[in-house]
Amino acid sequence: MNFKEEKTYIMIKPDGVKKRLIGEIITRFEQRDLKVIALEMFQPTTKQIDEHYPKDKAWIARLGQKTLSTYEKYGVDPVKELGMDNDYEIGKMVRKWLVDYMTSAPLVRMVIQGVHAVDMVRKICGVTLPNLADMGTIRGDYSADSPAVANSERRAVMNLVHASETPQEAEHEIKHWFGTRKVIFDYERFTD
Ligand code: ADP
Repeated sequence: MNFKEEKTYIMIKPDGVKKRLIGEIITRFEQRDLKVIALEMFQPTTKQIDEHYPKDKAWIARLGQKTLSTYEKYGVDPVKELGMDNDYEIGKMVRKWLVDYMTSAPLVRMVIQGVHAVDMVRKICGVTLPNLADMGTIRGDYSADSPAVANSERRAVMNLVHASETPQEAEHEIKHWFGTRKVIFDYERFTD
């Protein structure tokens, strides 16, 4: 394994594009000595986004769980609010909102390379839910969304960026989004 040249896949989501944060988000990766090796704005299809997010029961239930734990913390009754309290059923609904959200505007896709790029980028992005993300992270600094607010508005949590969770996921996502096109570059920076 080459930890120094690890690659990860990033997408700037519709809210990141619409909040004029494209430059800021890229800057945060570059500041940390991570290298941009592919970069493109594009409009995803519903099918592409549907295939991007996992479909297994455990992943879907985890989405619902994020809503349930937020509801528990703030004393919201999931049955009153959403008409259900099963994590998998809530997750299925959230996944649909997620596909709608991710196809609502052009996105920016990137491949970023560097030392432990996958974990570094996740650290710079902050945890999934902006209401819990630390200050100094992209999600903590530029969003205040939470499932309690988002789900009451029948939409996914807007958290500015997507970043792969593991090197294996990164490899899969880079293939899914860039395919075999020769748009991933190998070059030396002045600082290399
Ligand atoms: P991450 O993007 O940090 O890897 P997940 O893979 O768990 O997070 O979730 C995918 C995306 O779904 C999140 O980035 C967020 O936009 C949205 N999301 C996650 N959980 C919820 C939820 N409970 N309610 C609404 N949207 C959610």
